[in-house]
Amino acid sequence: MLQYTHIIGCNGQYAKRRTSMKNIEVLNADLTPFYPEYLRIDGQHIVDGKIELTAKSMTHQSVCPACGKPSQGYHSTYRRRVEDLPLLGKNVRITVTAYRYYCENADCDQKVFAEDLEGFAGWFRRKTGRLEDLITSIALNTNCEGCARICEEMGIRISGDYVINLLKKRFSGGAPECGGIIGIDDFACKKGHTYGTVICDGDTHRPVAVLDGRDGGSLKEWLLNNKQVKIVTRDRAGAYAKAISEALPEAIQVADRFHLFQNMMDAVKETLRAQIPGKIEISRVDPKEVGVKRDGNAEPPSKKNNRAKAGN
Ligand SMILES: [Zn+2]
Repeated sequence: MLQYTHIIGCNGQYAKRRTSMKNIEVLNADLTPFYPEYLRIDGQHIVDGKIELTAKSMTHQSVCPACGKPSQGYHSTYRRRVEDLPLLGKNVRITVTAYRYYCENADCDQKVFAEDLEGFAGWFRRKTGRLEDLITSIALNTNCEGCARICEEMGIRISGDYVINLLKKRFSGGAPECGGIIGIDDFACKKGHTYGTVICDGDTHRPVAVLDGRDGGSLKEWLLNNKQVKIVTRDRAGAYAKAISEALPEAIQVADRFHLFQNMMDAVKETLRAQIPGKIEISRVDPKEVGVKRDGNAEPPSKKNNRAKAGN
């Protein structure tokens, strides 16, 4: 049996698609707690194994992307279709009826703008922000192709190229700014051949710069452009100390805990090595004294011997 079901196309246009009735089920579950308060879930179905939700925006204002001023003037509604986090391995798509607003700032060139649902589904995005967060997190902990394969198992169909483009979009805004406390250390690109220097923000614990080499030259240049730095934690190698002293003589240099422990353990090992001889003789036990049988197992002491020992 066939019926016409209203489905919103990816381009936001309203269209009709002929769908087999047996492939549509009503999803009887309260999904409201999993969605923002300003989204009212009006319908939830499982269509061809995928979860299709319809929702309506309940916002009363939105921020203009051009001038950043909030506006409350409704202009019209429009439909958006975005993919959300999967549910029990099923792909989830939401068709949202959202608002367009007038920009109430007379000086702004943007007269009308579409709302971004408070970041839930950003402008020109086909996926919700939280779905992009999940994909980014998997990609950063694996690799782009691996991420795409894991996502497919979870019900998110993406390619490795999509993951690369997403990462580029997210991290192309230049290096994040850092505060007054940083930590620096070296890392091996190819052990014994090429090394780099990573700089992390002391407050967020996130990397803010990755520099070539570990001789201090690139670090000195970076520090000269980041004079807000007041405290630097580092290892005990001389190259970084020299670069910091030259670029920021006022900055406090702190030996970091990891390297202090490492140095302490090296000193303890060296002391033990000096105190304990390299060879320690262990006296060998004569097998005849413990009575070894031919098969190699020790013979248990006889009752006679036990009695003799008890008499003693
Ligand atoms: Zn504006």
